[in-house]
Amino acid sequence: MMKTNDYFEKVNFRTLLEADGNEGLQERLNILDVFLETDEHITLERLYRLLRDRGYDYEPEFVRQSMNRMVDLGFAQKKQFEGQPIRYEHRHLGRHHDHLICTKCGKIVEFSDEGLEALQIRIAAMHGFHMLQHKMEIYGLCSECRAQRRPLMPLTLAKPGETVIVREMLGGHSARVRLADMGLRLHDHIEIINNSGVGRLILAKDCTRLAIGRGIAQKIMVSLPKDPGD
Ligand SMILES: [Zn+2]
Ligand SMILES: [Zn+2]
Ligand SMILES: [Zn+2]
Repeated sequence: MMKTNDYFEKVNFRTLLEADGNEGLQERLNILDVFLETDEHITLERLYRLLRDRGYDYEPEFVRQSMNRMVDLGFAQKKQFEGQPIRYEHRHLGRHHDHLICTKCGKIVEFSDEGLEALQIRIAAMHGFHMLQHKMEIYGLCSECRAQRRPLMPLTLAKPGETVIVREMLGGHSARVRLADMGLRLHDHIEIINNSGVGRLILAKDCTRLAIGRGIAQKIMVSLPKDPGD
């Protein structure tokens, strides 16, 4: 995350807070201080911990409320990525970025791309919209998580949205027959529609959706395509 002039941010924040009345002013400035020193998309839980490490023992509710005040006044941005707790990040005036989120380890990567920004404005305009704001969140597996995955894995480990290739069916000939009965063959490309960790998996093969029990899915060995389109 790009650092800005923290000193200027603090002076600016103090001025706006003073206009609000002085209640809890010093405490709120201390929270801002600790927040500005971080360089991440921080959860409230982690922020309390950092504050406590500094000897500031504030009520969680006060910290939450102070952070939301920072959001209102344009110093912080509140973010909630799918499947993750609420996070706060710095708000740098005049600078915008978007996010890639790893659905396995939770890693958040920032990016900004002028071409993409212009394209979004153009798409909105094509539909008669004047774009005011947008959220561009790309969910996927980060490079480390991808590298950690074994080439062959049971279908139960595949993530929703992923396309995998059927490579092997454990359990011998009868298992292969069962697989064929379900409409699956070796080398089929299947897309994972739903795999919540409990109950059946929902897959798409060509234009058909298939529901497969976890027991049998455990025996279907799949791999990821090497490159998109493999
Ligand atoms: Zn953007
Ligand atoms: Zn990851
Ligand atoms: Zn960010």
